[in-house]
Amino acid sequence: MLRRSLLAASRSPGLRTTLVTAPVTRRVVRRFVAGEDAARALEVAARLLADGLLVSLDRLGEDVRDPAGAEATVRAYEKLLPELPGGVEVSVKLTALGQALDEDLALANARRVCVAAARAGTTVTLDMEDHTTVASTLRVLDALREEHPGTGAVVQAQLRRAEEYCARLAYEGSRVRLCKGAYDPPPSVGYTAKADVDKSYVRCLRTLMAGRGYPMVATHDPRLIEIADALRMVGGRDHDSFEYQMLYGIRPDEQLRLARTGARVRVYVPYGEDWYGYLVRRLAERPANLAFFLRALRTR
Ligand code: FAD
Repeated sequence: MLRRSLLAASRSPGLRTTLVTAPVTRRVVRRFVAGEDAARALEVAARLLADGLLVSLDRLGEDVRDPAGAEATVRAYEKLLPELPGGVEVSVKLTALGQALDEDLALANARRVCVAAARAGTTVTLDMEDHTTVASTLRVLDALREEHPGTGAVVQAQLRRAEEYCARLAYEGSRVRLCKGAYDPPPSVGYTAKADVDKSYVRCLRTLMAGRGYPMVATHDPRLIEIADALRMVGGRDHDSFEYQMLYGIRPDEQLRLARTGARVRVYVPYGEDWYGYLVRRLAERPANLAFFLRALRTR
């Protein structure tokens, strides 16, 4: 209920203005977002790499409504990619590349980002956004993979079709990030009960870990991490054949602990000025994150 209200509130322009301009919000933002520019993101990435972690950098921005905004996103990635050290890839949202305007424009823009990534010797993962964009994002993914087979996909376990997507994507060389899903699909499209999302996650995990692709297990949930490790052992997968992924600022000790077991662990590091939607999704998914925000308000 709280999650639904927050996600709905995130679309209110009034609340957005109030939050974005409140000085206290900045303190909370710093916990989840590396900084407002690429230089700061690269500093954070260097620190994580030194700790034995891998990184995916995400330039914040979504729901671009004009071609100039989409062009600015492409240029920002083209500028960032040559600067990346080994061990760092990028995550990209197709709505920041113009998907809401025209799928072909988003594909052309995503191709440019993939070309820049290939030149820099790294890869791109296409974030998955709300349920209305899923079919289009999977079409764009298929087209990109013809030339850039390393392009990463994302499956959201909260979707009723998640298992079907995993089965389709569990082929040789296919990088697939499995997450619970941060949006709010209608009951006809997604599971509403947390327990059902978790069960779906386990079914998807089984499919991906038994498949021939490269699973990217994106969760902070200790039970799901244990299950992934058990499936690794049962399936005889070695540590290099999959990775764990967590968000910057969430369970940093667990990120280090897992890396020390020999697992590959990638931290998703968002940066940029357009952090509002990202922040609200983090507040919506965990009461403790919201409590942290409210405490910061009280101690202003
Ligand atoms: P939750 O149900 O939020 O948490 C489960 C348990 O994890 C909690 O009960 C607690 O035990 C533990 N936990 C969680 N947070 C904390 C904390 N702060 N401190 C201590 N314990 C904690 N969503 C999308 O829709 N599209 C994407 O493309 C996408 N990409 C993602 C990429 C990465 C790398 C990650 C990690 C997530 C991504 N997400 C994406 C978000 C995801 O869908 C979830 O909304 C988010 O990860 C929260 O789900 P969870 O699996 O961590 O489980």
